[in-house]
Parts: sequence; structure tokens; C-alpha cells
Amino acid sequence: MSGKTDKTDKNCIFCKITAGEIPSKKIFEDDEILAFHDINPVAPVHFLVIPKIHIGSLNDVNGENIEYIAHIFKKIPEIAKELGIAGDGYRVVNNIGKNGRQSVDHLHFHVVGGRKLTWSF
Ligand code: 5GP
Ligand code: ZN
Repeated sequence: MSGKTDKTDKNCIFCKITAGEIPSKKIFEDDEILAFHDINPVAPVHFLVIPKIHIGSLNDVNGENIEYIAHIFKKIPEIAKELGIAGDGYRVVNNIGKNGRQSVDHLHFHVVGGRKLTWSF
């Protein structure tokens, strides 16, 4: 897979989490991606999965970094099974930009489960 941790943004909090400069409750990590618990969970299970290179949002996904997305989506159901939420179901959310209420400008997928979710915008 192209691009490792040298492609980071020194002002980005998720790049700092990847580098270990900000602590996080890690669930899974390999050379390309990191999964960790959200600091402000909205459900009994709420974790984030991020690429270890800085990609601003889904708008910045391209032919060179698309493999990170495939890898993340392969890993999400595996982690969901490990955390015991796969059977009853869960939700994967990606917020993009101002209208999407993205608050951290490093691509991340929320995985939320452990209770019956509502649907509200
Ligand atoms: P967004 O609103 O950008 O889609 O989601 C950002 C998420 O990152 C929020 O759910 C927020 O609680 C989480 N978050 C922000 N800062 C930190 C942090 O320092 N550590 C962890 N674990 N989560 C964070
Ligand atoms: Zn970043």
C-alpha cells in the first residue's frame, strides 16, 4: 500500500493520535489504519477508524489512497464482531465538511452500536 506515516499533518489531532502524541484507547492498529474509542461516545459502542496518513475527508479520496478505504471497510465488520455488536447491527457514519458537521479534518469513520439507534438529521 502506498504512503505510510510520513504523510501527516502536524496540526491534526488524529495525526497526533496516530503518532502517539495524544493518548487514545486503541482497539486495532496495523501499518495503514487505526481504530480507537471515541472520546465522547454517543452509544455503548462508538469507535473511530482512520487511515494513518492524513486524508482530509472523503472528498480527498483518490486513486492513490483508495486502498485505505477498502482496508477500513474490511476491518470494520471484523472489529464489530470482536466487540459483540455485529449480530444485532450497527451504523457506520462519515461526516464531510461544514454541512456534514465534520469537526476533525482527518478522514474518519464512526462505528456506532450496542443499542437500537434513532435516525435523525
Ligand atoms: P466528526 O464530528 O468530525 O465526524 O467526529 C469527530 C469525532 O472525534 C467526535 O465524535 C469526537 O468525539 C471525536 N474526538 C475528537 N477529539 C478526540 C480525541 O482527542 N480523542 C478521541 N478518542 N476522540 C476524539
Ligand atoms: Zn491528520
